[in-house]
Amino acid sequence: MFWWRITELISLFIALVHINRLIEIISPHQQSTAPSHLTLRHYLSFIPNINILHFCIFRLNVMIKTIQRKWPAVHRYKIQPCKLPTASMIRRCIGITLRNHIFLVFPAAVAQWAWRPPVPLPEKAPMLLELVGGVVGNLLLFDLQYFIWHLLHHKVRWLYVTFHAIHHEFSAPFVLATQCIGGWELVTVGFWTTLNPILLRCHILTAWAFMVAHVYVSVEDHCGYDFPWSSSRLIPFAIYGGPSKHDVHHQKPNTNFAPHFSHWDKMFGTHADFSFVKVQ
Ligand SMILES: [Zn+2]
Ligand SMILES: [Zn+2]
Repeated sequence: MFWWRITELISLFIALVHINRLIEIISPHQQSTAPSHLTLRHYLSFIPNINILHFCIFRLNVMIKTIQRKWPAVHRYKIQPCKLPTASMIRRCIGITLRNHIFLVFPAAVAQWAWRPPVPLPEKAPMLLELVGGVVGNLLLFDLQYFIWHLLHHKVRWLYVTFHAIHHEFSAPFVLATQCIGGWELVTVGFWTTLNPILLRCHILTAWAFMVAHVYVSVEDHCGYDFPWSSSRLIPFAIYGGPSKHDVHHQKPNTNFAPHFSHWDKMFGTHADFSFVKVQ
């Protein structure tokens, strides 16, 4: 319990610092003195605020563990009901998450803090259709990039052992496993997440909406539960994988390489459905 309190306090501190930065970014003073165009560094300036979501991940894990103990009815949505995360698994994930933040995310945040230019906001928000289309476009592009990366890191043994095996220490994912990745994977994923909105020439609000949606579905993929409101159930025609399909990837690592959608795995013959185990 003490360890939980310490990690939550650290996460809260990081989140508060970056909420403050976000307020600075969107303040009227910043808008009035800023140039009228967006640059790469403007997009990079948002990355530290993603840490707010890391705090949410910690809270979500506590909530799910509470649900497991107090609401057995909810437990029937657990994809692998006999496999619950142990204290040592949670400590391992927290350790890796802190290591990644101390040696990668924090130095990157400090560098951006020092070099970030004033960030202007466009006068007009994007149209709803443009925003939704931009988020879906970014998810589709990332889906292809990560599918290729993921396939290679499973097919080439050296790549798997050196970089990706750390994410497969758990055959039954839980939320903290989302962040249980090596430095190379974290940098690659962060690079694409930042670069894609620029490639697609998205409005900065669309870019931010994509980053939030991207983190949400990444965490959902690893939550270990297939709730009725899972994205894979809400999106029709089985075009979206969701937590059930990614859970199968952790059980059978040569299947379901795409992080979000299912079309690439179906085209390359690596798609696998899951069989839901009912709890009596
Ligand atoms: Zn995973
Ligand atoms: Zn994998």
